[in-house]
Parts: sequence; C-alpha cells; structure tokens
Amino acid sequence: MSYILGYRCTLCNEFYKKDKEMLTCPKCSDEGILDIEYDYQEIAKVFNKNTLLENKDLSIWRYLPLLPVEEKYTKNTLRVGFTPLLKSNSLVNKYEVKNLYFKDDGVNPTQSLKDRASVIACVKALELGNGVVACSSTGNAASSLAGNAARLGLKTVIFVPKRAPVGKLTQLLAFGADVIKVDGDYKKAYSLSKKAIDHFGWYNRNAAINPNLIEGKKTVALEIAEQLNFKPSDWVVVSVGDGCTIGGVYKGFYDLYKLKMIEKIPKILGVQALGCSPFYAAFKENRDLEETEEATYADSIAVGIPRNPVKGMNAVKFSNGDFVAVTDDEIKEAMKELASSEGIFAEPAAAASFAGFKKAVKEKIIKPEDEVTIIITGNGLKDTASALKTLKEPSLLNDSLEELVEYMNAKGKEDLKNE
Ligand SMILES: *Cc1c(COP(=O)(O)O)cnc(C)c1O
Ligand SMILES: [Zn+2]
Repeated sequence: MSYILGYRCTLCNEFYKKDKEMLTCPKCSDEGILDIEYDYQEIAKVFNKNTLLENKDLSIWRYLPLLPVEEKYTKNTLRVGFTPLLKSNSLVNKYEVKNLYFKDDGVNPTQSLKDRASVIACVKALELGNGVVACSSTGNAASSLAGNAARLGLKTVIFVPKRAPVGKLTQLLAFGADVIKVDGDYKKAYSLSKKAIDHFGWYNRNAAINPNLIEGKKTVALEIAEQLNFKPSDWVVVSVGDGCTIGGVYKGFYDLYKLKMIEKIPKILGVQALGCSPFYAAFKENRDLEETEEATYADSIAVGIPRNPVKGMNAVKFSNGDFVAVTDDEIKEAMKELASSEGIFAEPAAAASFAGFKKAVKEKIIKPEDEVTIIITGNGLKDTASALKTLKEPSLLNDSLEELVEYMNAKGKEDLKNE
C-alpha cells in the first residue's frame, strides 16, 4: 500500500491530494516540479528501527513504505541499492577529519546511483501499464534505465548528447535500448526527449520532471543513516548536475527526521565542476540560477540548465550546507588519489565529490571534528578513456628477469623488493 498524501508544488506551494498520478504542477507547467508528501504517522506504524533490523531485503525495497510504488511490481527487479558504506582507511588521516566514509554507489547493477531512480521509473511504468520508458541523459540515467527496463521486459527510448562516453553508450546498446544520439549537448538531448515524450506518450524518466524519481534517489540517504546506526555523519558530500541527486539526499534524511529516526539532518555539501557551476554561482551570489556553459570533462554533471533548481538549492539551504566548485584538474587528481588510496575507482563526476571534500577541508567549511560521508555516484569503468588520460601507460618488457631488475632499479622501486 502507498502512504502518499499528495503532491506539493516546489514553486507555488499548492498541494494536490493524491487521487491520480501527477508529474508537474498544472498551474506552473513544466517548471512546477512536485514533491511527494507522505503520511508519516501511518508509516511509523509499520516502519521503524526494529522492523528494519528484521528486514532481510538488502535492496532499496527494504524502504518500501517510504517509496511511491506498489509492492506487487517490485519482485523481479535488478538488485538496486544497499551499497557498501566504506570507512576510510588512509584518507581520513591525511585530511584530518574525525571520521570519513565512502558510500560506494558505483557497485549498483549498472554501476551508478541512477539505478535507484531508474528502477522506480520502471516499476511505475509497469503499474501504469506503459510498455515504453524514455529519457534524456548525460549517460548514466540512460544506461541505468536501459538495464533496469531490460530486466522487466520494458522497451526504452534514450536521448543522449553527441559526446556521451563510449562506456555508457556501450551499456545502452547492450541492454537493447533504442538510442537517439542528438547532435548537440545535453540541453538539446533534453529538449528533443521532451517533445518526443509528449508526442508518443512514453513513460517519462526525466528525473526532474517526474517526482517519483527523487524518491528513489533518496534511498541512498536512508541507507547512509541506517548503516551509521541512525547517527549520520555531520556532512554528506555529493556532486551536482540537475540537482535531483542532492535533492534526493535531503529528502531521505528529511523522511527519517520526520519519523524521529534521526536527530538531525546532516549538512549537505554540493559539489560542481567549475566549468559548469550554475548552482554554485547562484548560491554564492544569492540569486536565481542562470544558464551556463557545459565546460567540464565530468560529463555526468555537465548540466548548463539544471532541471531541478529548487530542490537542489533547498537541499543545501535547508540543511545549512554549502556548495563548492572544483576544476577538472582537481577532479583528475581526486580520481587517482581515491582509487590508489582506498581502492574505489570513480568516474569523473563521482570523483568530483571527493575533490569537493578536499576543497571544503582546505577552506575550513568542513572542520577537524566533523564526520563526513562522500557519495561515490558512479564507477570509473564507465569512462576509461578519461581516466587513462591522467594515468601512465605501463612500460613494455621482454620475458627476462634481468631486464625486469634493471627496470626496477632504474625506476627506484625499492619498496617492491621483498628481500
Ligand atoms: C547524474 C549524476 C550525478 C548528478 O546527479 P543530478 O541529479 O544530475 O544532480 C552525479 N554523479 C553521477 C555519476 C551521475 O550519474
Ligand atoms: Zn505550482
């Protein structure tokens, strides 16, 4: 059963009782993104720390009372969520914070946090009897939708910008999606997808427009809280493109706060790439968002017109958080450091959150007494071409021990000699 009371418009604040599925506010049209409101009193009767202890479902469906779907269609999905929360071994000492955790969402079924939203979209499409789901995407929403849909026998139509990385494109094609590659950037891909969805009546997985999707993304926060025994860290760090992921992070903690399962909502640090930082700029200058260029190699957060500006901004404002922006060089450095120090290989947009953490420590936004969770939103294997540009190709040796010893001496590899 669903515990949804209704939908509230993030622009005009109008409340709509739930008697039918809604996407956007009829008064404010497409900009009027809705937020789903729940009956927390009723949820508390079936959902609390004890019911979670007994719940053996290690996927997002363990939070079903807080999700906008019927149980019936959740049975055969891919296993999304309940990703590991890894305690830092070495970087915690290097950056001198009290505790540091990595929420590794790169281990989701299609290797990104987007699976949390896509599986909800697919279940919604099944509920509504719509056999085709469509979206536009910088890559991960697309590959994730295609994978989750393939599992459930749904068809997908996916609009991607011209420069979607080959790893993500390959995933899409393997999952059997109908891929429409749009000659232009993400803005163009989004625009065509919107026209096409209106025209063909496909189920809309565009994360901002569809209020159900943030509800899926919020499960990352529910998990972080549960994995930390309902004492979440002081800060949660996440990279920001459209603003849906960060909005979801806030919503998850908000739900638990309303249910009195956590005492406070963590401060949320939104991280943007400096070459495409409309949220960061608007926050620092205390103004509305303005369209910007998409000048960053971190493709998943190269979003010049964020589609979820209100929820994205509110996540930081309501949590007393902050925004930082990092350069592409800082992201590249962060990617190498995270992979080689903790064994977590992140795609550029995901490494950005670690780069943002480093900046926030340096700027004393994050303090030595703080505990911090960094969300790793996607796996590095999705974009090996970008990663390889910053790494050294290995030398080519013959099958000769002499040659190897010579090589090691020349390179000063003393630490590798177990003699
Ligand atoms: C989509 C995505 C983000 C940002 O999420 P938004 O909802 O667009 O703000 C961050 N990292 C990765 C890997 C993503 O795929
Ligand atoms: Zn409205």
